[in-house]
Formats: sequence, structure tokens, C-alpha cells
Amino acid sequence: MDPYTCPSCRNKMRFHIMDQQPVSVKLNPQTGEMIGYIDATDMMAQPYKGEARLVQCALCGLNGGEALFIKAAQRM
Ligand SMILES: [Zn+2]
Repeated sequence: MDPYTCPSCRNKMRFHIMDQQPVSVKLNPQTGEMIGYIDATDMMAQPYKGEARLVQCALCGLNGGEALFIKAAQRM
């Protein structure tokens, strides 16, 4: 794991780490009931492109992708 620094308050120690585990589902449009999963052959759907890991500074509350905090640590 790389060092983090909050780019807002410069905290280097206390963070909330939220690992993303997206579940790609198909829902019934009327009821919201889950009817299946999106599979790799589904030409209508793009794969998940969001952050793999989100970080929140436990001191000032700044939220961002992990790269934001790693890059701040490399600059300081
Ligand atoms: Zn902060």
C-alpha cells in the first residue's frame, strides 16, 4: 500500500477506506426486482469504470479516489 496524504488538510494517518465491489445486475423496470446479472456478452452494458477504492479523510471529510491521496503524498 502507498502512503496517503489528504490534499486538503494534509492528514497522513487517519482515513476511511471504501473498497468498491460493484454488482452488475438487471432489474425488472416495473418492480425493481433483480432478474439477473449483466454478463460479458451483454452488448448493451459497459463494464464498471468507477474507482476500485474510495478514500475519505477522517479529519476533514474530503472524499476521492485513492489516486488523489497517493498523488498528494508524492507531492509533499
Ligand atoms: Zn483532510
